[in-house]
Amino acid sequence: MVDQTDEVAVDLPTGPAWAVLPDFERFDQVDDVFNRAFWDPEIATDAAREFFRSHREPLRQWRNASGFGQRDYAIRNAAWHVVDVFAEMNDADDLRDGFLSPLSQLRDGPDEHFDLGSPAEAAATVKRVASLFGADLVGICAHDERWVYTQRYARHAGEGRPVGLPDGLTSVVVVGQAMDHDLVDTVPSALSSAAVGLGYSKDALVLLATAQWLRNLGYQAVPSLNDTALAIPLAIQAGLGEYGRHGLVITPEFGPRVRFGKIFTDAPLDHDAPVEFGVSAFCEVCRRCTDACPPKAIPDGEPSPVKLNRSAIGGVRKWSVDGEKCFSYWTQIVTDCMICMRVCPYNKDFSRWRHRVGRRLAATGLRRLMLRLNDRLGYGERLRPREWWAGATRRRT
Ligand code: SF4
Ligand code: SF4
Repeated sequence: MVDQTDEVAVDLPTGPAWAVLPDFERFDQVDDVFNRAFWDPEIATDAAREFFRSHREPLRQWRNASGFGQRDYAIRNAAWHVVDVFAEMNDADDLRDGFLSPLSQLRDGPDEHFDLGSPAEAAATVKRVASLFGADLVGICAHDERWVYTQRYARHAGEGRPVGLPDGLTSVVVVGQAMDHDLVDTVPSALSSAAVGLGYSKDALVLLATAQWLRNLGYQAVPSLNDTALAIPLAIQAGLGEYGRHGLVITPEFGPRVRFGKIFTDAPLDHDAPVEFGVSAFCEVCRRCTDACPPKAIPDGEPSPVKLNRSAIGGVRKWSVDGEKCFSYWTQIVTDCMICMRVCPYNKDFSRWRHRVGRRLAATGLRRLMLRLNDRLGYGERLRPREWWAGATRRRT
């Protein structure tokens, strides 16, 4: 156990939910639970192989239940299709664009830098351009080596390789794509994973186009999805949201229903500050995700520095989700799970004024009352996939 008095103040002022400790270790992507499913006998089970295969060969049906039939697996895999095409482009070189290596379909730019003005002006312009290309959220933080993987995983070789980021990077532009609210509400189902695939596929467009624009102006720009670095601490540092008990970033705009990508660049940009809007204190009294998680992978206690297994980052005191238990459940249902996202009281449509008022009250001493109200009104309940196919929506609730 780490002596809590040894904690260091770091630039992640996110309340009690994240603290980097003196024994911090950077994460090795070889240890990511999805990669262990290819080399670690503990994780590389027949069920894991079936899980991955089903993303290439849609199942006719996994079980006789709404949301797990042929049309559900078909739409899931179709939503993943664009990002899968990028992922498979450089397979012969043992790269996996967007997952094990950065997106690479880019042209070189000129040698001279275009003058983007002051760092504040440049940051505003980058945000405008990323938004034009489809980003729902954009934040910018300093490049921080702590979150860069020590190695990337080369799947065919079954070993780690250098991450290979160029020198001189100073900033990270973090973009977020909102996931479809109705689809998320159908979880658990293969249908719901269409929201994930669509988020990634849209992210690929935003990241590639924004990075190419920066390169066209003479700057370095490396677009990255799940590869290269941990997205969650970067999203927090870039001011896009607060860390929740379920291990997801909760944003003021879309709650936890967001997928993040990032662009590493040397363009001189102003950086955003982390935000606080009461999430940590709310998570202290709420256990909706913990209670709903089928394999009990989400902690119900205080943030802890304990490294649960080799797929967890070491030397950070936080709420840590047990990735082994979580992924094991995914393999059981042959699709990914987001029950913790669906039941989170922040999973609301904050374009509606009453939810913005509710979010504000949830940051006050009224948080327990807001939690009871959330339950009373039935938020977090599952939308049946067959109802979604029939046109049902929660968008107006
Ligand atoms: S995704 Fe599902 S299994 Fe994983 S932590 Fe969330 S609720 Fe639990
Ligand atoms: S469900 Fe509750 S405890 Fe879990 S992350 Fe959301 S607000 Fe926090």
